Amino acid sequence: MITKDRMQSNSKISLLGIPFDAYSSHLKGAAKAPDAIWEMIKCESANQWTELGTDLKNHPGINQLGNLSWENDSEAFDKIEEKISSVLAADSKPLVFGGDHSITYPIFKAINQRHPKITILHFDAHPDLYDELDGNPLSHACPFARIMENDLAEHLVQVGIRTLNEHQREQAEKFNVEIHEMKDWQGPHQLTLEGPVYVSIDIDALDPAFAPGVSHHEPGGLSVRQIIDVLHSINVPIIGADIVELNPNRDINGMTAMVATKLYKELCGKMLER
Ligand code: MN
Ligand code: MN
Repeated sequence: MITKDRMQSNSKISLLGIPFDAYSSHLKGAAKAPDAIWEMIKCESANQWTELGTDLKNHPGINQLGNLSWENDSEAFDKIEEKISSVLAADSKPLVFGGDHSITYPIFKAINQRHPKITILHFDAHPDLYDELDGNPLSHACPFARIMENDLAEHLVQVGIRTLNEHQREQAEKFNVEIHEMKDWQGPHQLTLEGPVYVSIDIDALDPAFAPGVSHHEPGGLSVRQIIDVLHSINVPIIGADIVELNPNRDINGMTAMVATKLYKELCGKMLER
């Protein structure tokens, strides 16, 4: 049922593309993801209604900021932090299209200034808790180690994880990470989220059968439906979100770009609720 309340929410969301993949460890290509998602949002194969009853098309609460740009990759993190800070200062909630997962660290430097006690709900095949990878502490395999060691979030809840090694288990213990490993996943009732939350969706959390357009195929993952069910179950405010690691170079007929766009729609609909 569509309620008036949902249709007339005053919340403001800023959609921002961050075409950055310089810190991907294995394959480049995630920098092409924002354009692939913008294109799918415009594509007439689907309407812009969420399953919960909000029409996102020309919605007054949504600002499309387009893609962030920079001269040299070494400047990108400062630009990201600056941009997210300006979005938050305007009382808007960032919903970011990556890029590789490394961008969540500079996003959180900004988030923490405004929201010092945030729970992160993180969907991923990988815990991304490496202290460093290939000598790079800013690698897309490391953002949540940087966020937690700098106290930029109160609590980290991970769903879909299926690649833990000894080092990352130690890191998870050190940072008190709540990991819901894929092998034990039974559904959203296993989560007790203390709000407000930030949602970070790495597209490789999904099984490659649903989302082949990612740099790291890790079989045995979540279905699109399982992630949507978790998003729909969130009953605390969502103050920001990112959807990362879509790699259009590996996609088939744009199907993973459409999966990312579907997740954007359901996430954005939830963010508009409050
Ligand atoms: Mn990741
Ligand atoms: Mn991943």
